[in-house]
Amino acid sequence: GAARRYVGRFAPSPTGPLHAGSLVAALASWLDARAHRGQWLVRIEDVDTPRCVPGADRLILQQLASCGMVPDAPPQWQSTRSPLYQRALDQLVAQGHTYPCACSRKDIEDAHAAQGHTRERHAALPYPGTCRHGLQGRAGRAWRFNVTDFKQKQALALDGKAPSATKIIANHLLQWEDRRLGLQQQNVEQAVGDFILRRADGLWAYQLAVVVDDADQGVTDVVRGEDLADNTPRQILLQQALGVPTPRYLHTPLVCGDNGEKLSKQNGARALDLSHPLQALNDAARVLGLPSLPAPHSPGISDALTLWVAAWRRNYNGAP
Ligand code: GLU
Repeated sequence: GAARRYVGRFAPSPTGPLHAGSLVAALASWLDARAHRGQWLVRIEDVDTPRCVPGADRLILQQLASCGMVPDAPPQWQSTRSPLYQRALDQLVAQGHTYPCACSRKDIEDAHAAQGHTRERHAALPYPGTCRHGLQGRAGRAWRFNVTDFKQKQALALDGKAPSATKIIANHLLQWEDRRLGLQQQNVEQAVGDFILRRADGLWAYQLAVVVDDADQGVTDVVRGEDLADNTPRQILLQQALGVPTPRYLHTPLVCGDNGEKLSKQNGARALDLSHPLQALNDAARVLGLPSLPAPHSPGISDALTLWVAAWRRNYNGAP
């Protein structure tokens, strides 16, 4: 069929203002949309309400605007979109791809311990599948996506008709192509297991919300930080279960703080200094391998962005 018109997005969680790391993802998604003459959307990912900071959404939009990046349509807030997530969950339940889970954190740790795993490893282990075959009289608290069940059905149903860049190969590795990182693969069952769609506290999980929204908003290209790359296989499984297209993906380099760790709000990254947006943009451009401005304060923001769109087109526009 005809190629879909490019739609990209920046999807910040309003847990604080933008910092040097999140600006890289914002700039990359904006440049990629401009380089493709496409649409650039902003989606405020505020489903994890306990982590949201009041006013951070407005601040982020202001920071973007002061860096010359204004969305092509009004921003969307995930907190207003529960009916869409519920509809998707209902569909997955009806298709038999999900099951209710009664496990507390303690139950999961006990199950891991019973399998002989040490406590230190628990956080990195997949869900042990306790509720996969029924609740045994306990009350369901959360909803999980059954990755094993799905793969068996899907491996048959796809029968070579998966999007060319994505496939589930015989040994249950999901393969996908990242525009920057190249061929990636993950065994979702071993890496994460049956993941959460709706949490025990009733909140929607990031995986479900992001897949529903990217599909609903017609997003063709996801450009975001490399820390999210290992979430992509889960999102591809959900897209296939829901029968929606898989976007192209490009994961951007992370910015490390002085301690060598990824810069994040959790480890105290400073908010961007709005009085020097060009300097902040220049730092982000350097992380993306784009040319630095000849002299930091010579061009205006829009001239700088124009220069980087051209450079971006040379570096990253080779994709189909
Ligand atoms: N809201 C996520 C974050 O801020 C990004 C989600 C995405 O781009 O898919 O980390």
